[in-house]
Amino acid sequence: MKILLTNDDGVHSPGLAALIKKVSEVAEVVVVAPDREQSAVSHALTLHHPLRAARIGANVFSVEGTPTDCVNLGIHSLLSYSPDLVISGVNRGANIADDVTYSGTVAAALEATLMGIPAIAVSLVTRSAGEHFEAAAACAAKLAVTVHQKGLPRDTYLNVNVPDLPAESLLPPLITCQGKRSYEGTIVDKVDPRGRNYYWIGTTDLSFEDIPGTDYHAVSRGHVSISPLHIDLTNHASIEMLKSWELP
Ligand code: MN
Repeated sequence: MKILLTNDDGVHSPGLAALIKKVSEVAEVVVVAPDREQSAVSHALTLHHPLRAARIGANVFSVEGTPTDCVNLGIHSLLSYSPDLVISGVNRGANIADDVTYSGTVAAALEATLMGIPAIAVSLVTRSAGEHFEAAAACAAKLAVTVHQKGLPRDTYLNVNVPDLPAESLLPPLITCQGKRSYEGTIVDKVDPRGRNYYWIGTTDLSFEDIPGTDYHAVSRGHVSISPLHIDLTNHASIEMLKSWELP
């Protein structure tokens, strides 16, 4: 099995190091990752300037670009083959509920899925530096073996979130759906030393609705959460209702 690893925390992040270590036990690994942190860039693709890639290890490429650029460049140019699987992570911080839409980690898995390659995004549920990246990486490695054996449904990728606990304390994985966040709009509004206003989007007071069956419900109780995400963002249930509108 050949696996392409990427992330959005940057090629030197501890979550990626843990992933390289654990996934190397089950597969041949190549890393194509951003040269610096690219968290919350979502599915951005760089189109307006060239991308530079540096080989910084035997099988490690550092790219001046986004996670989506990395998957694109890796598969279309840097690798001489198509990988069996792409794993993105281990992200420092949960990627659950509505936050999934901002995530560079999740978008890298989406990009692989668009290319027809099975993909897993994996994140460590922590608000600090994170401690148990290796336990999360071990979960990803095990899941990689299962996904390689069984395959994934068409246009579907897995969003995995692992509580920041030692491996022996993790509760069994639950298959979940994307949860719901309660947004507290925290914007820092201040004046800079030149007298101009500046604004800084804050991320304090994160809270989620505690809905059974969701990613948040699972990880907040110590379970590993596995959500199958789909490329198609259509709300199919609303199509008939919208068709009934008499649109001018
Ligand atoms: Mn990140």
